[in-house]
Amino acid sequence: MDTVTQAYRFALDPTPTQRRALASHCGAARVAYNWGLALVKTSLDQYQMDPNNRVPWTLPELRLQWNRAKDQVAPWWAENSKESYSSGLDGLARALKNWGDSRSGRRRGHPAGFPRFKKRGRCRDACRFTTGAIKVLPDRKHVQLPRIGVLKTHESTRKLARRLEQGTARILAATITRTADRWFVSFTVEVRRAIPTGSGHDTVIGVDVGIRHLATLSTEATIPNPRALERSLRKLRRLNRQLARGTPGSNRRKVSRRRLARVYARAANLRRDALHKLTTILATQHGTVVIEQLNVAGMTRNRHLARAIADTGMAELRRQLTYKTSWYGSRLMVADRFYPSSKTCSACGWVKAKLTLAERTFTCDACGLILDRDLNAARNLAKLAEYVAQSGWETQNARGADRRTQPAGQVALKREASCPPDIL
Ligand SMILES: [Zn+2]
Repeated sequence: MDTVTQAYRFALDPTPTQRRALASHCGAARVAYNWGLALVKTSLDQYQMDPNNRVPWTLPELRLQWNRAKDQVAPWWAENSKESYSSGLDGLARALKNWGDSRSGRRRGHPAGFPRFKKRGRCRDACRFTTGAIKVLPDRKHVQLPRIGVLKTHESTRKLARRLEQGTARILAATITRTADRWFVSFTVEVRRAIPTGSGHDTVIGVDVGIRHLATLSTEATIPNPRALERSLRKLRRLNRQLARGTPGSNRRKVSRRRLARVYARAANLRRDALHKLTTILATQHGTVVIEQLNVAGMTRNRHLARAIADTGMAELRRQLTYKTSWYGSRLMVADRFYPSSKTCSACGWVKAKLTLAERTFTCDACGLILDRDLNAARNLAKLAEYVAQSGWETQNARGADRRTQPAGQVALKREASCPPDIL
């Protein structure tokens, strides 16, 4: 038995009073965060002048300072659980650590900037509880949080409740968040589960995530979008056009922005649920699953809603497969983003110079193959696993295909894309 940390997220149906309490706790976290950041900034200035001045940098130090100052800064502090202030200060301590580690080269990836002040309505509303009465009630329809009390869940909590009753799970923390005016609670749970050494299959499967379909597999299977998702996507396109035509700063635009955010959140939920069903099948019934890597750097550049949606789907697919393949003993391979999966002929290996997003079929100029674009890409991904296996690059998340395989000029057109447009 291994212990893994897992999250269980449930939509909530709070009463108006509870909504106010939830918002108040998130606001309290923000106040503490901003107060701490201001303190750190002044302390840093003082430190510059006199290196004997201490800068409160860690959560315990920040918490100590907060407890000394809270009567002055926030005389109303008793209205919220003390966890809310702690949550804000914890977020700040983490952000400071990320910044410090990034500067000294201990943290990989994009450089982390110095924390910035959070602005109401502009930042993510969240508050994390780590102690106190955090419970999933036995009726499987309610959860309990410190100070806020018993909240009704929108969906059944049975999956988590069952594990808690069996004693194979332990709640470590609960985080409340607001997305497009809907409240959620996410439990961080320590789960004991048996991790197998292999899935019992040696098959390789390539997966390409699209917009028209949820996914295309190298086995020629096409997984359609659920009908509810199709409907939301149509609505999303319409609202997005409406927003684009509106007058910036107008009230009507504000309303359509909010509507768009709601529909977007719903589409994302529907897609996530559908992807969960798919990734479970992929991880349990295959030996190796090959997917494309998302071009994160290119994400902010893109303005196309369609690509944005496909790429959030791609990111979600990868997230789910990463843990599910480890649960079920299969293997996940992520192709290098320069691997031209869409532009390569899956039959003869010829690489097309250019393939626009509008071209739905792949036509090979060398061997005459005509194939659905997504299927061609999925087959190339599956082939990559064989290629890597033959060349003996046995790595866990093999970054297959080196950069020499790319054609000259602009590459990976397909991945030039993405990220939700500026609507949330
Ligand atoms: Zn060909």
